Amino acid sequence: MVLFISGIGTGVGKTVVTGEMARRLREAGRDAITVKMVQTGCVGRSEDLDEHRRMMGAARFQEDEEGLTAPQIFAYPASAELAARLEGARVDVEKIVASIKECAARHEIVLVESAGGLMVPLDEKTLAIDVAAREKWPLVLVANGALGSINHTLLSLEAALSRGMQIDRVIYDWSPDVPPEIDEDTPKAIERWLRQHGLETQVERFGFLAQRPAQSARRPRSDLLAFDRSRIWHPYASLKDPPPVRLATSASGLEIETADGRRLIDAVSSWWCVAHGHNHPAITEAIRRQTEKLSHVMFGGFTHEPAIELARRLAEFAPAGLDRVFFADSGSIAVEVAVKMATQYQHAKGRSRRTKMLALKGGYHGDTACAMALSDPDGMHTLFAGMMPRHFFADKPLPRWQGCDISSLREMAAAHRDEIAGLICEPVLQAANAMNIYHADYLREMRRIADEYDFVLVFDEIAAGFHRTGPRWAHEAAGVAPDVMCVGKALTGGHVTLAATLASANVADTISAGSPGAFMHGPTYMANPLACAAACASLDLFKAADYGAMARRIEAELRDGLSPAKSLPNVADVRVIGAVGVIEVERLPAREDIERVIDAHGVWLRPFSNFIYTMPPLVSDSAAIRRIAAAMLDLASAPPGPACDDGGFHE
Ligand SMILES: *Cc1c(COP(=O)(O)O)cnc(C)c1O
Repeated sequence: MVLFISGIGTGVGKTVVTGEMARRLREAGRDAITVKMVQTGCVGRSEDLDEHRRMMGAARFQEDEEGLTAPQIFAYPASAELAARLEGARVDVEKIVASIKECAARHEIVLVESAGGLMVPLDEKTLAIDVAAREKWPLVLVANGALGSINHTLLSLEAALSRGMQIDRVIYDWSPDVPPEIDEDTPKAIERWLRQHGLETQVERFGFLAQRPAQSARRPRSDLLAFDRSRIWHPYASLKDPPPVRLATSASGLEIETADGRRLIDAVSSWWCVAHGHNHPAITEAIRRQTEKLSHVMFGGFTHEPAIELARRLAEFAPAGLDRVFFADSGSIAVEVAVKMATQYQHAKGRSRRTKMLALKGGYHGDTACAMALSDPDGMHTLFAGMMPRHFFADKPLPRWQGCDISSLREMAAAHRDEIAGLICEPVLQAANAMNIYHADYLREMRRIADEYDFVLVFDEIAAGFHRTGPRWAHEAAGVAPDVMCVGKALTGGHVTLAATLASANVADTISAGSPGAFMHGPTYMANPLACAAACASLDLFKAADYGAMARRIEAELRDGLSPAKSLPNVADVRVIGAVGVIEVERLPAREDIERVIDAHGVWLRPFSNFIYTMPPLVSDSAAIRRIAAAMLDLASAPPGPACDDGGFHE
């Protein structure tokens, strides 16, 4: 095999990379040899070889066997074409190719170091890239972080692509005088471009050409993690002996990269929000463009285009009639807002005793006080029972396969009709508390009860919306619409926090007609323009492709992939809906086993309570779903861990 090693310019370290690659390959027991296409800038052959050897560092030279490492050598430091011309000679391209082919016949891997960059002339007719493209040698492009190198790198890559070359990898290294921000960003920009052009090519950090100076602004990683452990609370975690966390450094597509160089498929969509994949270029670009105009302005007394555009798009996305919108900063706040709407609605109708909600056991609506108070009363929030407003709860809906029993809800509604302002549920999928998939008929009955008593019907689509269960909204399966709907999580595709509460004209008009008329809520960062711009881009993506079909395909693959779990001893149930796959176990494996499975499969899982589950990005391909299912099966096969008294960890 021949690899063609070229640089984005001269002096980027091509020779050292070539030598070091050869050394690493040989260390791994491979038969690798280096060949320099043409050497220029040498006074004489022996000096040239000494110089070459010096630059190659530890690489062992093969000139004894091959006679030469550089088939042609010229003294003047210029393009091969000019250097040869100055000596009254010509570069013999065919002789070079023939000698490389000869090497390739005798060695497993020939690392051909290009003469200068890709577009350097070898003779009057031929550029270096012409030879490599004609011979179909895969390209290894050496880049660095010097100013202007993104431009040079992308130009080189584009030239290679346009000639149909295969790009094996880009090798990137820090170079002196490059500030850390640029050093961080350059490989990311290159990777982004590669992804946008449908290439899986990796940008490899070489870590060899230059060492970062010791006085670098960066702290060692262990320092960062130690600081984190002692000072920063993580979700549902203690600060004394906290659970391990991984230092995430970047993410794109399905994968999160951590400081130790691992890449993990995000099988949890970072708590169900990363629908289009991490760092989606359309969304990051929308945010970037918005930052140039208006990052934030108070929503009291001002409005702006991103908010207006988003409200338009949401109205188009939502069920007919839910076209009045309140922007909230998070899902929990959107729920609080929905409850306030229900209360103000009843108040406006002169029923000021109606201040309670009727919710479902097994539900989850968020972590703020009001949202907690609507979540399963026996769930993770019992500690706060004393401080929370008290609402009413109907029995947890039966699992879907057992049909639909509405009697508990009906009884509670009738008994407390004068105190209840509204009904609230997570349609079809009770996610964070129970991973319970229930019958859509239940929602139709809820609609009937709400109409009967004039309750405000609230569907919390924060987890299930945006095609998570297949249809755009989970409640579509029931053929009824709510009066108020909460959306969040995937709204911005997981790029920045934003949620919204959508209301019908009837709810909005009733509130407006009552006293005080105003709707009484208004967070500081309401309708933040960056978040709204991200959400607009996210909704455009949802519109541009058939996400329902993606969810259905993932559903079929998860059913297939997870079904072997049914026969495992620790497994109580396996259930799948849309892009949600759940293995319910008697008890979760020990934390060490969870970490081991994550590392072994390169799949990020975050089991909680009794659930090993996935909610992968909706854009996950079949290979990713297979890997996720395999990791989940492996985890479900691990022995049950110790019982936990905190009900496992959250979500
Ligand atoms: C996650 C979630 C919430 C809370 O959203 P946050 O953004 O975490 O406040 C509310 N309801 C449901 C159904 C959720 O899944």
